[in-house]
Amino acid sequence: MDSLKIALVTGANRGIGFEIARQLAEKNVHVLLTGRNHAATVEAAAKLQSAGLSVEAFALDVTKTESIAAVATEIESRYGRLDILVNNAGIRIEEYGKKPSEQSLQQWRETFNTNLFGVVEVTLALLPLIHKSAAGRIVNVSSLLASLGTHSDPDSYIHSPMFKSLPAYSASKSAINSWTVHLAYELHGTPIKVNAVHPGYTKTGMNEGAGEIDVSSGARTSVSMALLDNDGESGTYVHMGKIIPW
Ligand code: NAP
Repeated sequence: MDSLKIALVTGANRGIGFEIARQLAEKNVHVLLTGRNHAATVEAAAKLQSAGLSVEAFALDVTKTESIAAVATEIESRYGRLDILVNNAGIRIEEYGKKPSEQSLQQWRETFNTNLFGVVEVTLALLPLIHKSAAGRIVNVSSLLASLGTHSDPDSYIHSPMFKSLPAYSASKSAINSWTVHLAYELHGTPIKVNAVHPGYTKTGMNEGAGEIDVSSGARTSVSMALLDNDGESGTYVHMGKIIPW
């Protein structure tokens, strides 16, 4: 195990996270496949294990401090380091079609709890272990809806009633982008790289099956940023190898 890179992917029991876990394991990375629904997480890991891939299931609810601490302690005692963290878990609970001002404050709070505070808390808990890696990588799964530049562009496809109906989701992802820039600044001069990615409009449960690309393509940007070379960038926001306007 010492020679294999070790990656932790959040929200990996289904959707894009599951595919990120699969593709990393196919690149000879040992993947800690985590999810809040433990039965579904064990089942997802078993699917990849039966294909001969090196993955393990771990329970991790990113909104629960005890759950995050337990995973950090387990990784510390078993591996003593973490090479790759993919912060993929996320929720979209606002209803499409409503006006931005019609979404409830409760939905804002729940969205930020998972999409922002969950990412920050998981990262802070695991950062000491990532510092012990020779080449730590942190990938924050953002969204094109984080991009204020794109949101303000009347020619963009997100300049539409549908994509303007998710203000809390969009703002939580803009906040993730801001966190990415701050953490990359702090980690400048260390081997750790931290980047935000837009997976693409992907056919998953989050979109009730709608989307432009399949999950395999949706995982690709995160996997490539997780496996960045030592001379790769940090503090960027990318989709399929291209920089996106903040
Ligand atoms: P999905 O199919 O709905 O999967 C979301 C995953 O996050 C599930 O595994 C879910 O677990 C997990 N999750 C939610 N809350 C969690 C929590 N508190 N703790 C741990 N895991 C939790 O969504 P997806 O489309 O694959 O999205 C993955 C990421 O890509 C998200 O961050 C999303 O915002 C982002 N993204 C998606 C698209 C797209 O078009 N699909 C576009 C841009 C960005 P449960 O099974 O327990 O619910």
